[in-house]
Amino acid sequence: MNIIKDTQSNFITKIIDDDNHTKKWDERVHTRFPPEPNGYLHIGHAKSICLNFGIAQKYGGKCNLRFDDTNPLKEEDEYVKSIIDDVKWLGFHWEDEPLYASNYFEQMFDYAIELINQGNAYVCDLKSDEVKDQRGTLKNPGIESPFRNRSISENLELFKKMRAGDFLDGEKTLRAKIDMQHANLNMRDPVMYRILHAKHHRTGSKWCIYPMYDWAHGLEDSIEKITHSICTLEFEDHRPLYDWYLNSLEVYHPQQIEFARLNLNYTIMSKRKLKRLVDEGHVDGWSDPRMPTISGLKRRGYTPKSIKHFSDEIGVTKRDTVVDVAKLENALREDLNKRAPRVMGVLDPIKVVITNYPEGEIETLDAKNNPEDESAGTRKISFSKEIFIERNDFMEDPPKKYFRLSLGKEVRLKFAYYITCTEVIKNENGEISEIHCTYDPKTKGGMSDDGRKVRGTLHWVSASEYIEADIRLYDRLFKSQNPEASGDFVDDLNPDSLKLIKNAKLETCLSNAESKSIYQFERTGYFVLDSKDSSENNLIFNRAVSLRDSWAKLNR
Ligand code: ATP
Ligand code: MG
Repeated sequence: MNIIKDTQSNFITKIIDDDNHTKKWDERVHTRFPPEPNGYLHIGHAKSICLNFGIAQKYGGKCNLRFDDTNPLKEEDEYVKSIIDDVKWLGFHWEDEPLYASNYFEQMFDYAIELINQGNAYVCDLKSDEVKDQRGTLKNPGIESPFRNRSISENLELFKKMRAGDFLDGEKTLRAKIDMQHANLNMRDPVMYRILHAKHHRTGSKWCIYPMYDWAHGLEDSIEKITHSICTLEFEDHRPLYDWYLNSLEVYHPQQIEFARLNLNYTIMSKRKLKRLVDEGHVDGWSDPRMPTISGLKRRGYTPKSIKHFSDEIGVTKRDTVVDVAKLENALREDLNKRAPRVMGVLDPIKVVITNYPEGEIETLDAKNNPEDESAGTRKISFSKEIFIERNDFMEDPPKKYFRLSLGKEVRLKFAYYITCTEVIKNENGEISEIHCTYDPKTKGGMSDDGRKVRGTLHWVSASEYIEADIRLYDRLFKSQNPEASGDFVDDLNPDSLKLIKNAKLETCLSNAESKSIYQFERTGYFVLDSKDSSENNLIFNRAVSLRDSWAKLNR
């Protein structure tokens, strides 16, 4: 029996199905992805993008890309641009231009005036630490601000003065007048506006008051006529406030739905923390291939398809869990195994001389481009008297079940011949400098006509025709499953997360590689040209992922 996992259905689609059934939103589905442009997006955001845009696709609805740009101190155009690129790269589209919370500042201001007129908001002179101190705790009620009972007209006048720039940063706030005894701390007269004389990346110096997240977010959703406002679980406690603002204003009121955020082991996932890695130079910028950013994953060799597949596989839940990063790596292997062209590359070469092969002869052999896909065809590779194999594919004193090359043993060279090792040549330091072998001309293509079997198959590159490239092998950026478990995550950085290999020997066809194409180097992993540092004169390949999850066995 075939069990097909339905990764398209979850508790959120169940809510939407019910809403469509009752025609709650006239069978409309309109979601949004609302990043704050204060850093580059990471794999957690990718989860949210796949969910929000995916739901819109599933129901023939819409999904807005909306920048939640309400904090001028941290937001920059560079981040806006990268976010747009990342969402597009993942393969999602939105109608018209991206939207910005800052487009609605005027309208939000008008709504604030309305709340003041209702007697539901007041200007408060308490400093931010006083507001915090008087908020109370889960056990103790908060203390009412002495400014709570200002008249509507005084509040209107002060709020307009706030906007006009008559006060210094932090001198006053606008607060919602809800309930300082409320069991939910978010409902204890939350701040709606703060004064910040700072230049905004879009509105410049037009504003010196900026809306707080909870006040702004529901209004953004309402203005855009969002139906289902999907956010992560930590906003569950903010939902009563989301609802209170929209109910008080009696405006269009989307439904907020919370799901568990994606956490990955060996990974940190907050823009603020990732920015620290960038600013302190621990990584090569936001798109360092070890970063969990979308741009890092892209440069590492991840595909949009693998990320979407991963996002579907982990599903949507209401319970916080930590997903094994090996799952993400597996999603990439699964995608690439089906379509990555195979080539041969020797990362740590040692020369093999085939003593009975004619001097000067170069033979052309056929190599399969992808055993998983017949239509990928074959390519020509050249074979000659001298070839390179991987240094660790030879052992002088092999253990019992060693099936690679050793003295007197026969192995298969992929697509070529069987060879038998006859002699090991060493330099004056006793290091192996060359291996001598004989080949069996009757095994062309890697098959014997007498039915004799060999257990080992090695990849190789002809020493008469090859190109050289540098290779970057990546390991996890952090040593611990939870990099923050024992303090500062920077102390948990893995010093061996990048290993550089100079002068690997590769098949010549790779001289035409493009950074869009990902190759399987037989037996060593999936590799992609580094989009930033590679040049015609100095090819650099990144290993996206190894062929198998050997890490799991070694390190857990
Ligand atoms: P960060 O702390 O990394 O900046 P954030 O939640 O503050 O994360 P936003 O830019 O506000 O970042 O997030 C945009 C959207 O992405 C939000 O809807 C948020 O809930 C979602 N999101 C952020 N991180 C994750 C995650 N780890 N898993 C799923 N969704 C996430
Ligand atoms: Mg944030």
